[in-house]
Amino acid sequence: MSGGGFTLVDFTVPSRDNTMTHEPTEAPLCDECQAKDLCFFDPTCSGCQDLLLDSNTTISQLFAVMRQWVPQTQRNMSSLSREVLRRGANVNDRDGLTDLSLLHFACKSGAAGVGNIDAAVNLVNSLLNKVCIDASTTK
Ligand SMILES: [Zn+2]
Repeated sequence: MSGGGFTLVDFTVPSRDNTMTHEPTEAPLCDECQAKDLCFFDPTCSGCQDLLLDSNTTISQLFAVMRQWVPQTQRNMSSLSREVLRRGANVNDRDGLTDLSLLHFACKSGAAGVGNIDAAVNLVNSLLNKVCIDASTTK
């Protein structure tokens, strides 16, 4: 099928061997949300979703989104961490503002009332698997 729309390019970058801390920055916000004076990146908004998938969105910006203590982001932690890893992050990379790693964010995202416990447990398991795989392939 061809025609309108645009093609998403898979830009997945291989993960870095060394860990690093990412400079704190602001969360990105799509034009539509800015126009509505919203102050949170909303993963359920299509404009914000585009930003999430945009290869120009940095790991620092994704960590800024993960810091937003609202259900919209906390319940989408698995797609957020997938985007971080897709940009070549080491699974143990940290957010420069909070010093939290993906695993920390994953645990926090299980908080009752804000996050989702089942999703958080799944994410923690998959991140721990990745830690083990990385450890077994690195000398
Ligand atoms: Zn938006």
